[in-house]
Amino acid sequence: MARFRCPGCGAEAEGSTLDPVCARCGSTLVLSEARPRHLARETLEGRSAGVWRYKELLPGLQAGVPVSMGEGGTPLLQAANLGSEVGLGGLLLKDETRNPTGSFIDRGSTVLASLAKERGVETCTCVTTGNLGASIAAYCAKAGIVSEIVIRPGTDRGKLYQMIAYGARVEASRRRGEGGLNLGPRSVSVSPGNPYLLEGEKTTCFEVVQDLDWEPPDIVVLPVGTGGHLSMFWRAFGELEATGLVDMAETRLVGVRFSRSAAPAQGLDAELFTELEESEPALMGEARRAIEASRGEWVEVSADETIGATALLARTEGIFAEPAAASVVAALSKAKERRLVESGEKVVCVITGAGLKDTRAIARIARAAKQTVVADEYSVGRLQVGATKLRLLRMLSSGASFGYQMWKSISAEAHMTTASVYQHLGELEDLGLVRKAGVARAGGRERVLYELTRKGHDLLKMAGRIERP
Ligand SMILES: [Zn+2]
Repeated sequence: MARFRCPGCGAEAEGSTLDPVCARCGSTLVLSEARPRHLARETLEGRSAGVWRYKELLPGLQAGVPVSMGEGGTPLLQAANLGSEVGLGGLLLKDETRNPTGSFIDRGSTVLASLAKERGVETCTCVTTGNLGASIAAYCAKAGIVSEIVIRPGTDRGKLYQMIAYGARVEASRRRGEGGLNLGPRSVSVSPGNPYLLEGEKTTCFEVVQDLDWEPPDIVVLPVGTGGHLSMFWRAFGELEATGLVDMAETRLVGVRFSRSAAPAQGLDAELFTELEESEPALMGEARRAIEASRGEWVEVSADETIGATALLARTEGIFAEPAAASVVAALSKAKERRLVESGEKVVCVITGAGLKDTRAIARIARAAKQTVVADEYSVGRLQVGATKLRLLRMLSSGASFGYQMWKSISAEAHMTTASVYQHLGELEDLGLVRKAGVARAGGRERVLYELTRKGHDLLKMAGRIERP
């Protein structure tokens, strides 16, 4: 039997369910604060890194064998380059992109999946916009549990691909709210605020402090998200004190959220930032209390600032985070302006998730950086047209030209033989995209003049549409 508390209305409850819900207000319950016993630093230091290093501070397993894929134990990196950009000498990054499915949620999934497996759970269900579903699907795969995931509008394609690859049954829901999940007696419905997920997530804090030789940092900056991860940092600091692992933790928590009012006019939809701010109001209350109690602050960032920060983080520190995760970087200069942080302070930014999953964000970063993403190939039916051929077609779009002229213009920028240009032109002719317009004498020699066919014009039009999203 576990003791629970409702973060929404404060009600208390007991039970052995893995997905407890408040009978009074319907909020997902959190575990009541336990009074952990004294723990020696040496005990923890003698174990290998990862979530289960802190097993005394996690819900106990009967058999003691976790469903684990090496989650946690992520590096705390010195960020000298980014630090000098934002004027913070003691900047550190906790790189959670290294987790098995690319997000900090794996810390929670290992705890939940381990308990679920022990208790003979057959199915885990969840409604998600991304990282939660990917993580649950992976850990269910490892645990031999079926996962049923309802994705909401705005789910990143990369995260959806992950769920599918891990063997989840995926269903799309048009509604933003909870979907119609079919719950059987041996199933667990996982919400982002699930208490066992949160227990695992608190190990991010333990690791940060242990990596700093048990000296809590001055400030931790992290995305608010559902409020769960952030509020668990507050609880974790309390547990570190209660176990005697640290004397006193005076770390200020800075929560970063996306300001909708500052959304730019063109196209940057809030769906991009679903991972930054999900609705679980009860846990937002917990997060608010954690920030106040730690004498921390909220910082709001805009979509543009977040995209810029994603690029800055990747460019300076080689970490490619998703926009929600990089929002902490956008928050740094604002926090500095508002004097929430001073240059000499030890600041830890938690980079919660990896960037490769979010293809829309990648395109936006490239656009913001004024770089053109040119697709290597365009397909017309079964025809493949590569970058060089496309270039030749573009040259011909303003009028007929000689192969030799086109070669001169291409070779001014990149090495290419005349033979290779003629080879491409011949292939374009075979594809029916160019034709010989005639032969003319130029430079004392007979040269073939090429022009675009209608089909060639059509392909260029299509390529233009693809390139200008
Ligand atoms: Zn309640």
